[in-house]
Amino acid sequence: MALKITKECICCDACVNPCPTDAISCDDPIYIIEFSKCTECVGYFKTPQCVEACPVDAIVKDEENFESKSDLTKKFKLQRGK
Ligand code: SF4
Ligand code: SF4
Repeated sequence: MALKITKECICCDACVNPCPTDAISCDDPIYIIEFSKCTECVGYFKTPQCVEACPVDAIVKDEENFESKSDLTKKFKLQRGK
C-alpha cells in the first residue's frame, strides 16, 4: 500500500531526502507522495523512511490505494530493472 500525506503537514521538507524513490515533492499547500513511485520502502528499507522522518505524524497509509506486499515488491523490481 502506498502512503499519503495529510493536511497536518507543516512543509518541513524532512521526508524528501530519506525517500529512496524520489516519490515526495512539495505540491502547494502541502507535500505529496506520488503513488506510482512509493513502494512503502519495500525492497529498500525495513520501515517507511518518510514516516520515521516526519515530526508531526502526517504520513499515513493510503487505504484507497491498497497494494499487497507482493505488488510492492514487483514495483520495487521494476524500479530497479530486475
Ligand atoms: Fe518514499 Fe518510502 Fe515514504 Fe514511499 S514509504 S514515500 S518510498 S520514503
Ligand atoms: Fe510534511 Fe511531514 Fe514531510 Fe515535513 S516530514 S514535509 S511535515 S509530510
